[in-house]
Amino acid sequence: MEVHQCECAICQAGQDAEVMAYHRQINLMLSRLEEAERRWYMASLSSAPGAPSDVVLGQISGLSDKTIARGRHELEEGLKERGAVGFLVALELNFCLNRMKRI
Ligand SMILES: [Zn+2]
Repeated sequence: MEVHQCECAICQAGQDAEVMAYHRQINLMLSRLEEAERRWYMASLSSAPGAPSDVVLGQISGLSDKTIARGRHELEEGLKERGAVGFLVALELNFCLNRMKRI
């Protein structure tokens, strides 16, 4: 899958290299995840303290805000679908990325 180019205002302005690098990493990771894992990953980012709105996360990831909200609901429901192993890997990577830079 092709890596999505972030469409958020910060990346469009091209003035914050750290944020741009972080958003590139998010999209690189998303490109390696399965569909369900992508929405769970973005849902987990959306649940972080001080996280951007679903609309902005949608600009970053190319997912719709509805899809991110659905992922959050699935997380709240305890991930009844299969594929949670990949998701746990995603959460681990997310933790590492968050230590480097918050969105
Ligand atoms: Zn961006």
